[in-house]
Amino acid sequence: MKSINEYTIATIGSHSALQILKGAKDEGFKTILICPRGREKLYKQFGIADEIILINDYKEIMDIQEELRSKNAIFIPHASLLEYVGLENIEKFTVPYFGNKNILSFESDREVERKWLLDSGLKVPKVFPESKDIDRAVIVKFHGAGGGKGYFLAKDEHDFKKKLQPHPKKKYTIQEYVIGVPMYMHFFYSPITGELEIMGFDKRYESNVDSLGRISARDQMALPSVDPSYVIVGNVPVVVRESFLPAILEMGEHVVEQSKKLTSRGLWGPFCLESIMTPEGDTYVFEISARIVAGTNPYSHGSPYTWIKYDEPMSNGRRIAREIKIAIESDQLDKILG
Ligand code: AMP
Repeated sequence: MKSINEYTIATIGSHSALQILKGAKDEGFKTILICPRGREKLYKQFGIADEIILINDYKEIMDIQEELRSKNAIFIPHASLLEYVGLENIEKFTVPYFGNKNILSFESDREVERKWLLDSGLKVPKVFPESKDIDRAVIVKFHGAGGGKGYFLAKDEHDFKKKLQPHPKKKYTIQEYVIGVPMYMHFFYSPITGELEIMGFDKRYESNVDSLGRISARDQMALPSVDPSYVIVGNVPVVVRESFLPAILEMGEHVVEQSKKLTSRGLWGPFCLESIMTPEGDTYVFEISARIVAGTNPYSHGSPYTWIKYDEPMSNGRRIAREIKIAIESDQLDKILG
C-alpha cells in the first residue's frame, strides 16, 4: 500500500488556506503554503504549514512548479487561484491538482454556467439581454474580479441607464432581482464512493447591503448616496430547515450528473450552489462555484451536518485531504486529480 508520507499538500495563502492546511495536517499530510510576501506572519501563527514558499505575486506559482513536483505536492485550488493566476495559466500548470480543471472554464463563463444549471433542472433568475426589456426589479452585475463592487439595482430601463452612466466601458449582466433570502449550499462529491455529501450552508456578510436595514427608510431617502453594494467581508453559518434538505440534495446530484455530460469525468470535490430561497418555496440558483468556497470557513471544526455524518471534526479542507488519502492508499489517485 502506498503511504501518504510520500506526498505533501500545497495551497496558496489566501481564501481558505487555513482550513485546507489544517485539514491536511489532521489527516497526517505534510503541508506547503505558497504565501504572498507579507502574510507569512499570520500563517505562521496558526502552525498549519510545514514549509512556506514566499512569492511576490500570485503568478509566480508558475515558476515554482518544478520545486512543488519534486516534493510530490498535490495542489488544492481555491478562488484566489482562478482570480489572480488566471485560467490560461492554470491550464498549463503541471503540478498534480485536486479537482477537474476542465470545469473551471464553465464556472467563469456566465452563459455556459447558466446552461449547466438549467440543464440540471434548476431554477435560475431571468436574464435580460437588452435593457429595454426590463419589466421587474433587476440586479446589474459587472463582470470580472471585484466581488460585488458596483453592482446596482434598477426598477426599469430609465433607472438602469441613469445608474450605468458612471461605468461606461464595463461589461455587465442584467439579472432579475429575486426577493428572498440568500442561501449558499456547500457540497462534496466523491468520485471514489460516488456519494454527494451535504457539507453545510452559509450566508454572506456584505457591505453595505447587510447594514442598510440599520438606517431607517426616512434617513435613506434623505441620503442620496446610500445605494446598496455587495462587497463580501465575511460569512455567517446557517442551518437549513430540515424539510428542505431532500430537495437540496437532489439539486446537487443533478448538477453533478449534468457535469459529466459537459466534460469527461465531470465535477468532483467541494462545490457550492449560490441561491436565493423565496417565501413561495422556490430556490433560484444564480451561481455555481466549482471548488471550495470561503463560506465553508466558519466550519473549520466541521458543520452540524458533517458532525452527524462523521462523528469527528470534518471541515471541507479535511474532507479534501481524506479523499486524497483514501485515493493514495487504494491506488486511485487518477480518479481525483485533474
Ligand atoms: P454574486 O456576486 O453573484 O455572488 O452576488 C452578490 C450578492 O448579490 C449576493 O448577496 C447575492 O445574494 C445577491 N444576488 C445575486 N444575484 C441575485 C439575484 N438574482 N437576486 C437577488 N439577489 C442576488
